[in-house]
Amino acid sequence: MTIFDTAAWRERLEFDRRHLWHPYTSLSAPDPVYPVESADGVLLTLADGRRLIDGMSSWWSAIHGYNHPNLNEAATRQLHRMAHVMFGGLTHAPATDLGARLLRLAPEGLETVFFSDSGSVGVEVALKMAIQYWQARGQSGKNRFIALTGGYHGDTFGAMAVCDPVNGMHHLFTGILPRHEFAPRPECRFGEPWRAGDAQALEEVIARHADRCAALILEPVVQGAGGMWFYHPEYLAAARRLCDQYEILLIADEIATGFGRTGRLFACEHAGIAPDILCLGKALTGGYLSFAATLATSEVAQTLSSGEARCFMHGPTFMANPLACCIASASIDLLLESDWQRRIARIEQALAKGLEPCRALPGVADVRVLGAIGVVETIDPVPVTKVQQALVAAGCWLRPFGRLIYTMPPYIITEEQLETLTAAMYAAVKSL
Ligand SMILES: *Cc1c(COP(=O)(O)O)cnc(C)c1O
Repeated sequence: MTIFDTAAWRERLEFDRRHLWHPYTSLSAPDPVYPVESADGVLLTLADGRRLIDGMSSWWSAIHGYNHPNLNEAATRQLHRMAHVMFGGLTHAPATDLGARLLRLAPEGLETVFFSDSGSVGVEVALKMAIQYWQARGQSGKNRFIALTGGYHGDTFGAMAVCDPVNGMHHLFTGILPRHEFAPRPECRFGEPWRAGDAQALEEVIARHADRCAALILEPVVQGAGGMWFYHPEYLAAARRLCDQYEILLIADEIATGFGRTGRLFACEHAGIAPDILCLGKALTGGYLSFAATLATSEVAQTLSSGEARCFMHGPTFMANPLACCIASASIDLLLESDWQRRIARIEQALAKGLEPCRALPGVADVRVLGAIGVVETIDPVPVTKVQQALVAAGCWLRPFGRLIYTMPPYIITEEQLETLTAAMYAAVKSL
C-alpha cells in the first residue's frame, strides 16, 4: 500500500483532479499530478517518500535549490518587520536595497526600476513604457511591436500578443489580441560561425514597420518556452544597431536567462549590448515568491514622465512587496558570493557529456547545451505523461513539452546528480 491509498490522499487527489487548474491542462481530461511534500537542496520529496532530483528549478527559478538557510533567514527577518505595505506614497529599505543591487549589476545605462508581481506583468510594464515613451515624443502612431517567432513573453494579453503566433495559439484570440509584426527566429546557432546576412530578415521587418512600432522585444540569446533555441550573440548585437538606426526601443526579456543561467549574469552580456528596457523575473527571488522587475534607461523614464499623463500609468497592489524584495536581495548576494561562473561551466560540461550520446539515438533531431541548460529535441512530439513516469521512476523531475526534453537544474546540483539526471534523460529518449 502506498501513501496515496490512504483516505486523506485519495480525497485530495480527487479534489485536485476535479477542481484545480494546473498550467496548460484540461479539467475534463486532467494529466496525472505528483503530490510533493517538501523540497530541500536539489531534491523534491513526494508524499510517498520518493525523492526526485529536480531538473527544472521550478521553471528556471530555484537557482540555489530549495529551503536555503540564507533565503529562509531573509524571509523570516522581513516577515517579522512587515510582510507587505503599499508602495503608493511609501517606500522601504527592502525596495531601495534591491533596486540598488539590480542597477549595479544590470547592463550599462539602465537606471530605473519598476517592481511588479510576475514575469508577464513585468513584460506588460515594458510594453506600456515603450508606448508612453513615443507618445511623449509626439509619435503616438508608434504603438505596435516587433517580436520574433519562437519567442515567449508570458500569458497575459499584452505579453501573449508578442509570443510566437502559432504555438501561442493566437487564432483562438483573433480580434481580441493586438496584431504585431514578427521577424523569423534567428537561424544562426550559438557557437557556430556568424554569417553576415543572418540579421537581414530582421532588418527587413524593422525597416518596413519601424514608423508604426514602439520597440523590438526579444529574449536575448536563449528563446525559452517558445522552443529552447540558442542563437548567435551577433544577432543580438545587430538587433541593437538596427533599433538605433530605425528609431525603435529594444526590450530584452531576461526573465528566463537572467542571473547566470547562460553562463553570464545576463544574456545581453554575450553580445556586450544594453537594452533600453530589461525584464527580470523567475530567478529574481531564487524561486521563493512571484516577483518581477522592469528596468529602463533614464532617457525612457524621463521622457515618458513628461508626456500627457505626467506619470507612468501602472501601479499593482503588491508593487515592491517587501518580503519578495528582501528575499531577492539575499538571493543575489548568495549568487555573487558563490563561485557561480565555475559552477555553471561545470554543469555545462556535465550536460554536454551526458546528453551528447542522445544525438545517435533514432528520433532525435538535435542536442544543445548552453550554460546550465540542456536540451534534447526529438523529431516527433514527446508523449509527456509516459516519459515523465519513466523519469520519475529513475528519480528525476522534468517536464518535457512539445518535442523537447530539457533541463535547467539548480546551480548547486552535484556531479553525481547530473549523471543520474542525464542518464535518465538518455534512457527516456531511447525508450521512445
Ligand atoms: C516565464 C517567462 C515569462 C512570464 O513570466 P511569469 O512569471 O510566468 O508571468 C516571460 N518571459 C519569459 C522569457 C519567460 O521565460
